[in-house]
Amino acid sequence: MAQLQPVRGTHDILPDDYARFRHVVDTARHAAALFGYREMATPIFEFTEVFARSMGETSDVVSKEMYSFTDKGGEGLTLRPEYTAGICRAFISNGLQQHVPLKTFAWGPMFRFERPQKGRQRQFHQIDVEVIGAAEPQADVEVIAVAAEILRRLGILDKCTLELNTLGDPESRAGYRAALVAYFSGYADRLSEDSRKRLEKNPLRILDSKDEGDRRLVADAPLIQEYLTPAASDFFKALQDGLGAAGVPFTVSPRLVRGLDYYTHTAFEFTTDMLGAQGTVLAGGRYDGLIEQLGGKPTPGIGWAGGIERLVLLSDPQPAPPRVVALIPIGAAAEAEAVKLAGELRRADIAVELAYGGNAGKRFKRADKLGCVVAVVIGDDELAKGIVKLKDFGTGTETEVARGNLLAALKA
Ligand code: ATP
Ligand code: MG
Repeated sequence: MAQLQPVRGTHDILPDDYARFRHVVDTARHAAALFGYREMATPIFEFTEVFARSMGETSDVVSKEMYSFTDKGGEGLTLRPEYTAGICRAFISNGLQQHVPLKTFAWGPMFRFERPQKGRQRQFHQIDVEVIGAAEPQADVEVIAVAAEILRRLGILDKCTLELNTLGDPESRAGYRAALVAYFSGYADRLSEDSRKRLEKNPLRILDSKDEGDRRLVADAPLIQEYLTPAASDFFKALQDGLGAAGVPFTVSPRLVRGLDYYTHTAFEFTTDMLGAQGTVLAGGRYDGLIEQLGGKPTPGIGWAGGIERLVLLSDPQPAPPRVVALIPIGAAAEAEAVKLAGELRRADIAVELAYGGNAGKRFKRADKLGCVVAVVIGDDELAKGIVKLKDFGTGTETEVARGNLLAALKA
């Protein structure tokens, strides 16, 4: 065991970093709530099948990146690599068909065995938004608008581009698939080993390959646009019109495909050029076949996930909230009184710093360093008179306040 080190690809989130992390989650939760999305959570591990069946055997995630294990009861389990499959599983197991459209917000840790680098970890975190049970393109517009609103509130919408594409309906996909097989078969000897396998099982996946040689071939591959059925084409048009009406700018990227098997129609990514190779901050699409694939009744769905670490890298540092009040007792009697007073103030929702020890001078210094706005000083004199001394750290002024008026004075 590498002693006392975090496992490769995992990170501690220390308090200063956590403030930024939490700001992303809070902002996302709040914006999602404005659109009527309610928070939920699913377990961190599921039966391996939940992911294998939904994300597809040939996906990078399922074929290479899952943390799978057999537990002591002999169950084949996997630490979740993404949220969508678990939420769809929950939709089925809890019989939520009566509650469509189900609009959810979720966040939490995800696990993928990848090569760690900046913005790419083995335990990372996602925010996630899903709509289950809505087939209309207006739902696609809405989930994308939620994403844009979150990015806007985080101050990073300007640093991102929304790339949009359609993967068509199953009929369009069938025609496109045949065209891709015909095209790539001509270059089979130049494809990477992974992509040669994909050619049989899932040729669309080749378009998402990160291999240089594959990418050169992909550049001239046929485009889905030429194979769209009128219905799929109308759907894509409605999506673009809707985004226009919602004021969300986008560019159509005809070669954008998503790495997972379950997408149909809409695929999108918010990308940035400020994070090097880890340029996708938030990505998603429509997954009309997924719930059926998991064993539920055919139910359409659409959603996305955003990487919290990447969002944090793009957003500004969060100032630590000021600790408003420091209590500084002088003497044993005041010490006991301060504990009591701190309790009263905290019950009134005032954050109070009370050091465990040290002389008054040290305590003043520490309070100042912590960013306290005001110190409440109690010594024997003040105790006898039933008052406290207030010292304002900003102006340096000292005032005396009757004990009974302290709360009002602090609130002012
Ligand atoms: P990439 O192409 O970067 O591997 P992906 O297509 O695998 O991304 P998704 O499965 O769509 O990613 O996950 C959605 C978002 O989660 C990504 O856009 C990214 O912000 C974040 N994410 C995915 N994998 C990681 C990781 N290993 N570390 C940190 N963030 C990640
Ligand atoms: Mg990946």
